[in-house]
Amino acid sequence: MEEELKRADRLAAIGELAARIAHEIRNPLASISGSVQLMAQSSEIPAQDRKLLAIVLRETDRLNALISDFLVYARPVALNLSSVDINELCFELDVLLKPDPRFSKVSMVMSVETGSAVLADRDQLQQVFWNLLVNAAEAMPYGGEITITGTKVHLSGRRSDRKNFVRIDIKDNGTGMAEAATKHLFEPFFTTKPDGTGLGLATVYRIIEAHEGRIFVESAPSRGTIFSILLPAGEIGGE
Ligand code: ADP
Ligand code: MG
Repeated sequence: MEEELKRADRLAAIGELAARIAHEIRNPLASISGSVQLMAQSSEIPAQDRKLLAIVLRETDRLNALISDFLVYARPVALNLSSVDINELCFELDVLLKPDPRFSKVSMVMSVETGSAVLADRDQLQQVFWNLLVNAAEAMPYGGEITITGTKVHLSGRRSDRKNFVRIDIKDNGTGMAEAATKHLFEPFFTTKPDGTGLGLATVYRIIEAHEGRIFVESAPSRGTIFSILLPAGEIGGE
């Protein structure tokens, strides 16, 4: 037990250190990318060098994305729980994501049972939905449909006191994936995208786990994907 605690302490310390380093990398990175952007504006730069500057810019952008995603992933999951209305959350996300070019050919259909609320940290739950929705849109570069379904579930015969849950399915009709890929989805840094960080679903998993929820995936190549989340039910209007 004591050994386990020590190990947990050490892991937490390493996590903190990693987050600190990521944070410290941010400022010099901003200077590099700012300076290169200024250089690129000069009319005296030969075409060959301009190409090199473009590479530096692209790569600093990549590093920036990696560090931002890593900081979200490494952030300690301290939960600020309240009842979150799933319909409301989806509506807000719809408004937030509409202007995003990745959603220009994607339509979102919501079918959430009235009164579906979960006991969750609102900001973190938004992060979960945001990651799943962006992944769904990225799997449909030529457009398609995302369906969000929410249903109240009563799990009887469970040993724990908690019996009321809400199940949320986020379904897309995009590229889907092979079974082999579905096994590694939630591991940090697993990505099949040239500009991906592979930290989106690792973050999702961590957050759902902290909420004592569950997440499942069902997918078939070229058919599409369904991510299903099970979260403890909250009360509409309650805290
Ligand atoms: P990233 O989006 O940066 O690649 P994620 O952790 O969000 O990292 O996702 C990991 C990988 O899981 C993606 O690169 C992709 O291969 C696969 N994936 C996730 N969601 C979907 C989806 N809805 N459809 C198809 N593949 C997906
Ligand atoms: Mg992603």
